[in-house]
Amino acid sequence: MTPRRVTPRDMARKGDQPLVSLRVEDLMSIPHLEEEDPIQPPPPSWAEKYDRSLDGFTTVGLTKPRTPEEEDDLVSRFLSGLKKLFDPQENWTFCQPLRLSLEYCMKCQTCSEACHVYLASGRQEIYRPSYRAEVLRRIWQRYFTPSGRLLRSLVGADVELNWQTIARLAESAHRCTLCRRCTQYCPMGVDNGLITRELRKLLSQELGIAPAEIIEKGAVQQLRVGSSTGMRPSGFRDTIEFLEEEIGERIGRPIKIPVDKKGADILLLHNAGEFLSWPENPAAFAILLDAAGISWTLSSEPLGYDAVNYGLWNDDVEFARIAVRQARIAKELGVKKIVIGECGHATKAMVVIADRVLTGDLSSSEIPRESCLPLLAEIVRKQAIRFDPSRNNFPVTLHDPCNLSRAMGIVQPQREILKAISPQFRELTPSGVHNYCCGGGSGFAICNSYNFPTWRHKVGARMKVRQVLEAFAQELDPERYPFKYVCAPCSNCKGTLRDAISHYGLWEKHRVNYGGLVELMVNAMADLDKPFIDFEDFH
Ligand code: SF4
Ligand code: SF4
Repeated sequence: MTPRRVTPRDMARKGDQPLVSLRVEDLMSIPHLEEEDPIQPPPPSWAEKYDRSLDGFTTVGLTKPRTPEEEDDLVSRFLSGLKKLFDPQENWTFCQPLRLSLEYCMKCQTCSEACHVYLASGRQEIYRPSYRAEVLRRIWQRYFTPSGRLLRSLVGADVELNWQTIARLAESAHRCTLCRRCTQYCPMGVDNGLITRELRKLLSQELGIAPAEIIEKGAVQQLRVGSSTGMRPSGFRDTIEFLEEEIGERIGRPIKIPVDKKGADILLLHNAGEFLSWPENPAAFAILLDAAGISWTLSSEPLGYDAVNYGLWNDDVEFARIAVRQARIAKELGVKKIVIGECGHATKAMVVIADRVLTGDLSSSEIPRESCLPLLAEIVRKQAIRFDPSRNNFPVTLHDPCNLSRAMGIVQPQREILKAISPQFRELTPSGVHNYCCGGGSGFAICNSYNFPTWRHKVGARMKVRQVLEAFAQELDPERYPFKYVCAPCSNCKGTLRDAISHYGLWEKHRVNYGGLVELMVNAMADLDKPFIDFEDFH
């Protein structure tokens, strides 16, 4: 089916009918995938309650306004927030790049062909990187520029702002993984990812519209109890005891995991999701750092045991509160530097974006902040541990987390490690800074409300599933090749891969598994009696 022509003006269309209805047969094809479940419509009862008029899906769960006054309130708060976005005082963090990005698009559409969402959707107009930017641009022109106010459609300021425009924009802002691949390919340097992020900020800060998992149960919960997972300090300490027991059983010798060790060289911050979903990852870190003789510690302070900072995607205020607290904990411990474990967004948040708010005694000249990947590569380079690559003699490929590779240029350390420990390592195509997002970027990995997971599996993660199947195309036979590993050094990417592998049945059909980088490293440690990775376990 040829995608329906949808214009920016359609975003203001009244009624429940979605602008597009996705069908599996219209999506990008996935070679080597024999069959695929159709996309199921949501329960009819939802139509009365939640707005799904963008594409039939919802992640923010916006309930429909009940009165004209409620509608007007939404519109006036949106306009007030939009005005703030373009005010250098109110939006000192990102006003300038936002303005430049909205002003300099020449509508060449180069960005569309770079966007995994647009391609995976079968090139649906509403998922073009420039589509939502164009809607926002036209609203700005219509309500805030003299020519737009007077001449409207004559100058292209033709998108009316009503509550449905806002509802569709709120969903549209959550159909972009903020991977910024579009930005990388734009000849004008227009940052459509940033435009989307700023739109999310407006919706979250001014209208309280955001996926509950990211703000209410994410950043807000983290500030309230200590972790976005809901884990309190007592729970964290119990988890560490459990990990120590697990490590003892797995490697046959006890390891004491350092917690709140004053004056350690490194404060290691993990995404707390690791402790709950993939405890083997922090366990592997503990084994490696112990074996390499590195001075390190974890923190049991609220926010000190969770590197997550979901403000990165939706909210500057929550972002700043979390970053400052994490840096303050490091200062109080007297560590030499902060190292972020295998988590892409947390690394970008703390190492790069936090520069905007960490100043004075918390600045990076006082307490440097780094990704764990260069440290891990140094362990290999300096031969601080003896590795036996034959222990990892199965097909391995690498997913580059966008925040680490494209945003921060961390590309070589993980390859240096994999080339040293995994003889059957092969790249995805494309890879490195040109990689495609896993589909779970910008918080999508944890957005499991309403019918959004279906969108994530079918569209968000589609390109990654295709890449993985192509990388293992010669070894898909589960009898001859009973174990394949997608290495993803990032919590959110792992969550997305886990769900996508399950959705498409890749473990059962092809024995494709996934996991972090440190697990592979420990699996290759020559001094361990048995494999660290459980080859029969998919979780
Ligand atoms: S590639 Fe850049 S200039 Fe071209 S349409 Fe996209 S954002 Fe605009
Ligand atoms: S940031 Fe990524 S997902 Fe969003 S529009 Fe750009 S390429 Fe597409």
